[in-house]
Amino acid sequence: MSKPPRVSLAEMSRVTGKMLNHGDSQHLTAGAAPTLDDLTQSLHFSPGDGRIWLNGQRMQLLHTTSLGALRRELLESIGAERTRGLLTRVGYSAGARDAQLLRERWPNAEPGSLFAAGPRMHSLEGAVKVEPLHFEFDFERGTYHGEFLWHHSSEAEVHQADFGIGTEPACWMQTGYAIGYTSAMIGRLTIYREVECTCMGHHRCRLIGKPADEWDNVEEDLRFLNAEAFVSTTAYGVPQQAAELPGDDQRPYADKEMVGVSSAFNAACHMLRRVAPTAATVLFTGESGVGKELFAYMLHQISPRKEQPFVAVNCAAIPETLIESELFGVERGAYTGASHSRPGRFERASGGTLFLDEIGTLSLVAQGKLLRALQEGEIERVGGVRSVKVDVRLVAATNVDLREEIRQGRFREDLFFRLNVFPIHLPPLRDRRDDIPLLMGYFMRHYGQKHQRRVTGFTARAVDALLNYHFPGNIRELQNLVERGVIYADEGGPIDLPHLFTSGEESQTSYFSLAQTGRLTGHGGAMPTAPAQQETPAPGALLDVLPAMLRQQAQGKGWSLDQLESTLILAAVQRADGNLSAAARMLGLTRPQLSYRMKKLQQP
Ligand SMILES: [Zn+2]
Repeated sequence: MSKPPRVSLAEMSRVTGKMLNHGDSQHLTAGAAPTLDDLTQSLHFSPGDGRIWLNGQRMQLLHTTSLGALRRELLESIGAERTRGLLTRVGYSAGARDAQLLRERWPNAEPGSLFAAGPRMHSLEGAVKVEPLHFEFDFERGTYHGEFLWHHSSEAEVHQADFGIGTEPACWMQTGYAIGYTSAMIGRLTIYREVECTCMGHHRCRLIGKPADEWDNVEEDLRFLNAEAFVSTTAYGVPQQAAELPGDDQRPYADKEMVGVSSAFNAACHMLRRVAPTAATVLFTGESGVGKELFAYMLHQISPRKEQPFVAVNCAAIPETLIESELFGVERGAYTGASHSRPGRFERASGGTLFLDEIGTLSLVAQGKLLRALQEGEIERVGGVRSVKVDVRLVAATNVDLREEIRQGRFREDLFFRLNVFPIHLPPLRDRRDDIPLLMGYFMRHYGQKHQRRVTGFTARAVDALLNYHFPGNIRELQNLVERGVIYADEGGPIDLPHLFTSGEESQTSYFSLAQTGRLTGHGGAMPTAPAQQETPAPGALLDVLPAMLRQQAQGKGWSLDQLESTLILAAVQRADGNLSAAARMLGLTRPQLSYRMKKLQQP
């Protein structure tokens, strides 16, 4: 890792200050980059090695007649509803990807001109000729309105060839593209509807876009973006009443919703729906903060056990000496201090679902007891003499590689095979970037309600920073950032960058960590490259980033111990590319110790 650049807030403001917080079709000047010519020049044919590149993204030419055949076959085999959903989501991901590419390639472009590149890109890709009638957006107020004409839509062409003129618009993939593009460009879920379509006999298609919460019956549109019915369609709409938001302790999941439309998120949701009706053991894998517990809870909610208890245990949070009595219960007098008999989590979850988070931190002794409980379907309380039958569906989660733990002799192979019946991998947030605008809006609304604060949106540079950030702490980190932003932002105003990355002087240090991983300082003109592969960090590898941090501290920024600790942990986790075992080694901690400290620091 090269030495992190030292970027002052003033310097950053100079760079990002160019970024206005609004844009519209009036401000389009003929020469403003990126022009159609600029875009055309970013298309490279490389026939010698079988590749086509658009802004560094590999593309492939497809005959429209093949696209037509695919559509027809889908319609015939899975029906119009599911075909429309599938194509809308494919389009969404293409649009969101193009927004990201444009943002990376022209980081300093004026927002209106940058936005206008999307329709040009869509035209360049051969989908449709887009004629913008009007568009305007304001980051600070969170508003958007756009109206476009589509001429000679390729999707309409192939649809009509097979089905003729009908009563419904049919440019599904293209509508998805517009939704994905605009949402990723302005950082807010924006829904488009085709109000006229050549497939309905109009001589061209007409498209209108507004933020999701400004449409009536937006659930209809969201149905096509969400692969599964349990994914929230209300998260973008009218906020819940404050009375419906109880404290996190009482009903920890009641106010949390599954949010996402990206293909990585949808793939995990598909698997969840598959396995939910069965009694199979499910093992969730993925980095810290990707939402394993929420997925486990949703699995329970859509399973036949939903009326029965859902009991969650974080194995890393319970000391080794207590884990056995926590899980299996204890009989009076089993040990000094055991003055009452009490059931363990297994018994309390009877008939329902038991979720064991961070299962990799269980001691070998506890692993043996857990294995026995799973094999025999019965448990014995600590100090007890009789066995108790338990009917529990076990769901486990881990952020470490259990196969590696087995090789290291820290995890029982027989228990692993018992748990690994149906593994579901949850992707890190950086692999589902298309969902970031949705999550930003959702958390803003959610915490605005919770803390009784009215914030209007995010500034352009805040949107840009969030959409480019690496998120080593995944959704939990985004959630914390937005919650902090909601609290720091002025009442009735937008969330700005310093609100997100802490206030005042401290923002400089956080900013600096953002600049280290984000791509705020432009690389205009260069072909975007994939992030460099991290080599396996060696013990002590952290030492070479420490001096820069300490220098920051020496500049009188007055870090608290907690800030210093969280910065060190963040640096180690980033360095280890999310591998917590490796990060712990660098810090001279055990993995459970690291998990504990991370949890502690994440407490508000
Ligand atoms: Zn159309």
